[in-house]
Amino acid sequence: METSLERITRDLKKLATFNETPGEGVTRSAYSKEDREARNYLISEMKKLDLDIYEDGFSTLFGRREGKNPDAPVIMIGSHYDTVYHGGAFDGTAGVVAALETMRVLTELDIENKYPIELLLMNAEEGETFGPSTGVSNSRAMVGTLTEEELRTVKNRHGQTKLEAMKAYGVTPNLDTAKRLPGSLKNFIELHIEQGPILEQEKKDIGLVEYIPGIGRFKIFFRGRAQDSTALMANRKDALVAASQFVLFLNEWISSLGKGITGTVGQLSITPNSNQFVPHEVIATVEIRTFDTTTTTPKELKDCLLTELANIQNTTGVETYLEEMGRIGYSNPTNPSVMNAENVEKMKSICEQLGYSYQIINNGTGHDAMMMTEFVPTNMIYVPSKNGITHHPDEWTDYGDVKKGADILLHLVADICK
Ligand SMILES: [Zn+2]
Repeated sequence: METSLERITRDLKKLATFNETPGEGVTRSAYSKEDREARNYLISEMKKLDLDIYEDGFSTLFGRREGKNPDAPVIMIGSHYDTVYHGGAFDGTAGVVAALETMRVLTELDIENKYPIELLLMNAEEGETFGPSTGVSNSRAMVGTLTEEELRTVKNRHGQTKLEAMKAYGVTPNLDTAKRLPGSLKNFIELHIEQGPILEQEKKDIGLVEYIPGIGRFKIFFRGRAQDSTALMANRKDALVAASQFVLFLNEWISSLGKGITGTVGQLSITPNSNQFVPHEVIATVEIRTFDTTTTTPKELKDCLLTELANIQNTTGVETYLEEMGRIGYSNPTNPSVMNAENVEKMKSICEQLGYSYQIINNGTGHDAMMMTEFVPTNMIYVPSKNGITHHPDEWTDYGDVKKGADILLHLVADICK
């Protein structure tokens, strides 16, 4: 039992033609004309398989293969087919194509499934389209955490809110009907390109994910006094000196918490950023990643940051202010997303059986699968990204590598659908 390299290649090439920026990577933004064209292609392919095709209240596209027990919870497989601006042909799309091909083989071989199997084809995953923390929209709609507020407020590069863009696309969203009932899903499985260099460097075919770290973001403002470089040292309110104290504090404090968490100040914006002036404003962005939920709670983390910022303000005279950059309706940081361990073991055996090499990869970025882990047993399969490049015209995964990942998906689904 295997997937067809020829059909996978054809699908990937075809979907890459639904592209707003030919010759400059692939651009297929949520709710664009290209989104619609890709959707029509996917619908036409699903029709050949006699799937029951429907959309939910958030215009997420599904193709259902009925189970022997129609009331049984659903096995869902899929990914997203939208891209970033000037992105590539594989991020998301590889998982869409692998899931579609899995469904084809199940149909061809007439595999009997007790549980219904649904293709999940998402069109609004990329956070770039409507700005930070606005991605993975389809999965958030399914688990019921997407808000009306977000639809009305966030805007794309054309200045349209999510709601306006959806209406122009021909959809009036209904977040209530998009929600899935707890217990209505049995599994969610997503194949995705790695978006990192590890599999290629280690010469491995398949990456299996045990968990994806939680993520938290903060913006910290330090406001001092505008002065030139002749200002006496004792009279200064130097925002960069204050920010530097904070950077050292964060590094030391997070290090002291052990292996369950990391914290980074990866960006500083300094005003006026000139050798002649004392910096009077610094904005620092902090990124926290969490690997378990026991090291610290979001509240403890924020309290500790605020306490230290108050200390710095007292000793330097520089005003400090903390802004949370979390996703609406989620804790900041989010919880780590833990994958279904039983299926990870199953996929290891499938890899061995098919002669595909694999390794565990736990440092992934944000995916729809991440949103689903607290709602339904979830798994992810990674396939190699050439040079680790993603969200770029040079993004590349060999078609043969997508096929190997699709084979793992197929064998896993065939096993758990009985
Ligand atoms: Zn993606």
